[in-house]
Amino acid sequence: MCRLFLFATFKLFNLTMEKLFIYNTLSRTKEEFKAINAPFLGMYVCGPTVYSDVHLGNCRTFMSFDIIYRYLTHIGYKVRYVRNITDAGHLESDGDVGEDKISKKAKLAQLEPMEIVQTYTVGFRDVMNLFNALPPSIEPTATGHIIEQQEIAKQIIANGLAYEHNGTVYFDVDKYAKSNNYTVLTNRKLEELLENTRDLDGQDEKRSRLDFALWIKAKPEHLMKWPSPWGVGFPGWHIECSAMSTKYLGEQFDIHGGGMDLQATHHTNEIAQNIAYCGKSPANYWLHTNMLTVNGQKMSKSLGNSFLPMELFTGNHPLLNKGFTPMAVRFFMMQTHYRSTLDFSNDALEAAEKAFNKLMESYKTLQTLIASGSSSEDVKAIERSCYDAMNDDFNTPVLISKLFDAIRLINSAYDKKSTVTKEDIALLQSIYQHFVFDVMGLKKEEETGKSNTALEQVMNLVLDLRAKAKANKDFATSDEIRNKLTEAHIQVKDGKEGVTWSI
Ligand code: AMP
Ligand code: ZN
Repeated sequence: MCRLFLFATFKLFNLTMEKLFIYNTLSRTKEEFKAINAPFLGMYVCGPTVYSDVHLGNCRTFMSFDIIYRYLTHIGYKVRYVRNITDAGHLESDGDVGEDKISKKAKLAQLEPMEIVQTYTVGFRDVMNLFNALPPSIEPTATGHIIEQQEIAKQIIANGLAYEHNGTVYFDVDKYAKSNNYTVLTNRKLEELLENTRDLDGQDEKRSRLDFALWIKAKPEHLMKWPSPWGVGFPGWHIECSAMSTKYLGEQFDIHGGGMDLQATHHTNEIAQNIAYCGKSPANYWLHTNMLTVNGQKMSKSLGNSFLPMELFTGNHPLLNKGFTPMAVRFFMMQTHYRSTLDFSNDALEAAEKAFNKLMESYKTLQTLIASGSSSEDVKAIERSCYDAMNDDFNTPVLISKLFDAIRLINSAYDKKSTVTKEDIALLQSIYQHFVFDVMGLKKEEETGKSNTALEQVMNLVLDLRAKAKANKDFATSDEIRNKLTEAHIQVKDGKEGVTWSI
């Protein structure tokens, strides 16, 4: 008991050292972060709908929250990070009509919906792992929480803020909005929302066009359906997050996150559901990540402009000159603040790769530095500014610029233009460990697999042989080498800057 108390005090003391400011969508300002029950912290992030491969846009959002999770943990919080898997209830329209995204895929592929769910959940985890994103503490699924979703719907009906019509349960937005601010996240006017709502199927069943379904009656051909007090059906998309966040983090928790595209509908409805259910707004801080774009347009599967992570790693895409390692891509994402849009391009990736390599080269140089001279305040100032950058709404681009100050210092000492003491070297090591490896989650080159020196040597040899065959106009041999490498899942690309390869 006593030891526990001491530990908690130490942690609290630690936490008071870092004043963290977070941009809260609820107040549209940067606010000083105060956890409900420090050092414990609850964070819920809307996870993927597992009906297809995650694209890089999805990855950007999850990597942004990975860095937030890592930094909160680094400064001493004991974070329970819940990120759900949407495996039912997310309809094609993102509303109450259309087919379930997973069922549709299952029918097309002639598979069980749960086979689709399994395939893309495993794929999602593999990709996150390649990007070195930490797994959440709990990864609950919508289908695993049908009862909890029904219980919330029942309570909202009992509280007079939802109604059943012909087996479907609707949330009564008009009634709710009479005593609550329905558009608290967006500040939009209800009349404006009404104007922008299309007349779709099911509208005649709703009391107001803004009402949304908590539970939907299943048509006979619908694949994923469950018995309920209102007949056989399935949950609406928004209620799963209310159910799972409440179950694992309580009625009120610290942080709720997701992409900005979820703000206006999914998160707006989630807050309304929670307040209608228990009278409490679920999270104190709402964080929204901005979109990854291609030529200024949101990357999305439906727009047909999405990139799969594998296409990026192999370079197998018309917009790419070559492949990029997962760590170079991770670094590329962090060069932009999570609340700004990030435009995807081959040139931007190449620039990020160069900067990433420089950061990692400098780490190697750091290992060779020899202490001499007197200690400078510079390294301490760099460490402080790294914390300041992250304390300012997780500002990774500023953090990176501070790390480049460290690089300049390392290079200058290496070139004997300045000196570093043993303490300076130790502090630089610790800056790398804390900010580059622990917080940014970048891995050392030798851990990424790309710089497997034996493989590199073999590849250099093979590509030399191929170049010689080409020079001798022996295209049969050069093509055979390339085809055999492709069979071995090694992609060779003849780009402007020469031949490159990737696994
Ligand atoms: P979904 O699988 O469509 O439910 O999306 C999973 C997550 O990815 C959500 O938090 C979305 O907001 C986010 N997301 C989707 N497209 C993009 C994009 N182009 N850039 C950043 N995040 C995105
Ligand atoms: Zn959600």
